[in-house]
Amino acid sequence: MPESGLALSNPLLTWQSPFGHPIWVSTRPTSIEIATEGLPTVIRMDQTHSANIHIADQPVLPGHHVINNTDAVISNQPATIAVKTADCLPILIAHSSGWIGGIHAGRAGTTAGITINTLSALIQKTGTQTGYWIFLGPRICVACYEIDPIAHTHYDLVEENISQINSCLDKNKTTIVDSGYCTACQNDLFFSYRKEKTTQRIWSGIGHH
Ligand SMILES: [Zn+2]
Repeated sequence: MPESGLALSNPLLTWQSPFGHPIWVSTRPTSIEIATEGLPTVIRMDQTHSANIHIADQPVLPGHHVINNTDAVISNQPATIAVKTADCLPILIAHSSGWIGGIHAGRAGTTAGITINTLSALIQKTGTQTGYWIFLGPRICVACYEIDPIAHTHYDLVEENISQINSCLDKNKTTIVDSGYCTACQNDLFFSYRKEKTTQRIWSGIGHH
């Protein structure tokens, strides 16, 4: 049983962008089916730790769509973008124009520039570097993410991705909201691949409806 009890009474943690986009994160043991129950149109990704993005700017039919070999989606269509993780950083983006984005940012994708690629595409579509609201979901924190057990080197997914955000957007006109959750520190709430070698994942989503 989860230590906090929160997961049992509230399987989804929720936020909202200032433009009205619903944001949610599933807590264990919630599945994609429960997390997206009642949502007519869901865009997911066959996440491969790439820097490939998909642009959904044409009407999307109801149902679940899985985009191959892709780690980020942007859309201006009525749909929910869902990201699966279990230590990697889910980044959900809302813009005042109605465009939304969802990024699966692990170490490989981050190093390959997935967040820069996504924001570059959004800037091209919206025509502006301002007006973005960016949510950082649960991920493994820098203290828990040791990438070299001999040299004790750590990797900071949040710092690296905030650096990419600031390289693309006007820092003074961008809002970054950090959930602050670590999947390993708060393993009672979230799945963590490194902590428990699980194949189960948490889901994070943003909707434009
Ligand atoms: Zn941690």
